[in-house]
Amino acid sequence: MDKYEPVIGMEIHAELATVSKMFCGCKNDPFGAKRPNIYTCPVCLGLPGALPVPNKKAIDWTIMLGLALNCKIAQKSKFDRKHYFYPDLPKGYQISQYDEPLCFDGWIETTQGKVRITRVHLEEDTGKLKHAKVAGKNKTLIDFNRSGVPLVEIVTEPDIASSVHAKEFLKKIHNIIKALGISTASMETGSMRLEANISLREIKQESSVNKAISKIENNPKLPDYKIEVKNLNSFNFVKKAIDYEQVRQSELLEKGKVPMQETRGWDEKANKTVAQRSKETSEDYRYFPDPDIPPLEIDLAQIQKIRLAMPKTPDIYKQELLKIGVREDQAELLSKNTKMAVFTINAIKNEPKLKDMLVNKIIKEKLTGTASEALKLVEKIKSDKKSTVDSEDTLVPIVDKIIKQNKKAVADYLAGNENVVGFLVGQVMSKTKGKAKPSTVIGLIKKLVK
Ligand SMILES: [Zn+2]
Repeated sequence: MDKYEPVIGMEIHAELATVSKMFCGCKNDPFGAKRPNIYTCPVCLGLPGALPVPNKKAIDWTIMLGLALNCKIAQKSKFDRKHYFYPDLPKGYQISQYDEPLCFDGWIETTQGKVRITRVHLEEDTGKLKHAKVAGKNKTLIDFNRSGVPLVEIVTEPDIASSVHAKEFLKKIHNIIKALGISTASMETGSMRLEANISLREIKQESSVNKAISKIENNPKLPDYKIEVKNLNSFNFVKKAIDYEQVRQSELLEKGKVPMQETRGWDEKANKTVAQRSKETSEDYRYFPDPDIPPLEIDLAQIQKIRLAMPKTPDIYKQELLKIGVREDQAELLSKNTKMAVFTINAIKNEPKLKDMLVNKIIKEKLTGTASEALKLVEKIKSDKKSTVDSEDTLVPIVDKIIKQNKKAVADYLAGNENVVGFLVGQVMSKTKGKAKPSTVIGLIKKLVK
């Protein structure tokens, strides 16, 4: 297996949490809907003559996501029809974006270098099929509540080098989407869905000079086949699927075969990928510009407005935490939960001297809250600190008194019964109403009995 290295690209879909659907006024809440097919209209049912009108908020949020992923934003963009036939697609085509996506040429930083973002585009989600028994017969039912929900797709270059790297990258994307507040990004409800393109290439024994050159070129040679694994609804499944494919494909390659270009699914129970269908190429989809939707023109003022209104991303929070002296590993951890990051920054602003205590407490108890709640936390720590009987000067007379009052226990301890220390600490704690530090008390007892 060491003969080959994986070449991995990802496709990430996220449903945008807009109030209404992508091209009509229907409510966008497929997961919250009480019954099937209640949020529908002629547009999202694909009835003849119905005209789609793009959702401006969804376009703005896609641009915002593109900015957060360091993408260039297209000033001219358009929607295209992508044709395929499946019962969950009422029109027989999906409105998507083909050659003019809203965002392109981005990147995000990972511990193993930059992962380039090819594009971020906007499309509509499909309906949902449900297999059920109706009057004793197996039937396939359809729910159009999800049909036409705005869906962004992020596509990466094949810059991901392992299953562990894939997981790190995906968590990072997930945190960015959550921080922007544009999607619930939930794998359980399916508002975030993952696909991996996996192939293997032989590791060439290169001289260090050649290695440096190929690193600059970034993609020395891509394999001439690609396996797409769909239906990955957790980060762990992505990791498992990549590990599984790595073994399966290397075995084929070892036999001198080229793995068949196909789409595979993840079988959760069998713990393996299974063939679904041969992979479509873009020609199969018969893309063409949607004649019902005029091309989009996005001016620089609109992009600037979105940039200014953009919530901070985890990377920005991390920089701010580092700037106020928070330790690197703690800053990394806090920045992944923007509510905790904001709470920490607010708390430290009130009392920089308590920085370490505040950070530890916030991380340990996963605290979040408003600015005034951050101030309250600072006040509480301050008054706790004041009331802690921690100095030896205060404790020595108390410990001394306890020792004198418990001659028998002390004698037992001196005779070698270490357990008695616990009893004596308990006595001191009850005298100080629990405000003494146990480690200080133990030290003092051991010192004073001798
Ligand atoms: Zn509708």
